[in-house]
Amino acid sequence: MIEIAKEIQTAAYLFASILFILSLSGLSSQESAKRGVLYGIVGMIVAILATVMGRGVEGHIYIIAAIAIASVIGIMVARKVEMTAMPQLVAILHSFVGLAAVLVGFGSYLDPSTQNLSGAEHTIHLVEVFIGIFIGAITFTGSIIAWGKLDGKVPSKPWSFSGLQLMNLTLLVACVVLGVLFCKAEGTSGMLYLGIMTAIASFIGVVLVMAIGGGDMPVVVSMLNSYSGWAASAAGFMLGNDLLIVTGALVGSSGAILSMHMCHAMNRSFFSVIFASGGGAAKGLEKKAIEGEVTSLNHEEVATLLKEAKSVVIVPGYGMAVAKAQYPIYDLVQTLRKAGKNVRFAIHPVAGRLPGHMNVLLAEANVPYDIVLEMDEINDDMPDTDVVMVIGANDVVNPSAQDDPASSIYGMPVIEAWKAEKVIIMKRSMSAGYSGEDNPLFYKPNSEMLYGDAKASVEKILTYLKA
Ligand code: NDP
Repeated sequence: MIEIAKEIQTAAYLFASILFILSLSGLSSQESAKRGVLYGIVGMIVAILATVMGRGVEGHIYIIAAIAIASVIGIMVARKVEMTAMPQLVAILHSFVGLAAVLVGFGSYLDPSTQNLSGAEHTIHLVEVFIGIFIGAITFTGSIIAWGKLDGKVPSKPWSFSGLQLMNLTLLVACVVLGVLFCKAEGTSGMLYLGIMTAIASFIGVVLVMAIGGGDMPVVVSMLNSYSGWAASAAGFMLGNDLLIVTGALVGSSGAILSMHMCHAMNRSFFSVIFASGGGAAKGLEKKAIEGEVTSLNHEEVATLLKEAKSVVIVPGYGMAVAKAQYPIYDLVQTLRKAGKNVRFAIHPVAGRLPGHMNVLLAEANVPYDIVLEMDEINDDMPDTDVVMVIGANDVVNPSAQDDPASSIYGMPVIEAWKAEKVIIMKRSMSAGYSGEDNPLFYKPNSEMLYGDAKASVEKILTYLKA
């Protein structure tokens, strides 16, 4: 196998780091996203080649076999995964990074060459190992629970009890004590402390995510993304690999910034979400009784309403993704625009199950970017809107977020669909959204339900519109 010199490897790592930074900046807008992904792919290929061909790396045949098997599995999973299952996939991939950091940590601790280190160098290495495994174990189990919640295998309702914060704090203190004992242990006798800390950190990962309710899951997803970055960075320190340190720090810090943005968008305090110290609901309050009656329309009546309307706003949500309704919605938008109507989309920052979920789906169906507006850009126009079509969305248009302090989504900004002249809610039943909260919007006098699968409903409305 050809070996590349240290200088060339360093240059290749620098080049890959630049590509990763360009990739992140490309991903910040829809127009440049594809370019961003391409930079990321090239950067990763350069990084893998430079590492595998570096000096001191042995057993190439095993590395190549592992890469080949993993690539085949990766390609198969990526081709099969539905867009609606993307968040689960991201969560489970984060868990792999966490597990890798734990394994690298144990491997690095037992590595005879690191055992030979002495003095401050040895202590620093032990601290790196301990912190790397701690973050990795939390990321590993936390991501598995997040996957379960997003996949419906674990209930999305928060699981919590009054002493939870105290318990977490006690466990954290216990880990610090174990860390001190670990650093003082001779030879490999620190394995016991490392093992206990790994078990505790794995448990913390489970309870941290279990305690977070469905409505706050977007922050958890981006926070685990951040953790996985820090875990990778810690692995980079253990292995003495500069690129892994840089890449991990990029993922860690961008994930943290995204988490902060999401908290801001949801009017949540970052720390109250990650430590699950009560989302928006005020404890001990009774939920407001929902008043009003639910009424519904048929597809022909909705088509008539749309024909009469001058301005239409579409609020898409998770149900649009499930039904894959974005394609007929594009046709509907074209038909209405040709008829001279002002049609726009209102996108809530946490609509769907992944940051930017709705934007990706609408871009996939070729909906022009200029009519896709953020919640803050369009909320003020709601009172002047004739018809709002809520397509497969629920929590993001729930007025309880503004007027019911007992609701778990209280305080989260929402799209004020109820201020429009008429609201049509397209979903299959009266069931609650991901947060588990009932929606008083369905009972408002200007609201009408249109039951059924979103795609089938939009197609039916289209046939009446075109007739
Ligand atoms: P919701 O989950 O609140 O509501 C989606 C609605 O879609 C459901 O009430 C469901 O009603 C309906 N639906 C499902 N399938 C179909 C279908 N085939 N046709 C028509 N309707 C359908 O989604 P929102 O987008 O409004 O809100 C997102 C929620 O998810 C928020 O609580 C958010 O915090 C959370 N979340 C967001 C993440 C993100 O990063 N964006 C990540 C994780 C969670 P019915 O069954 O009656 O059809």
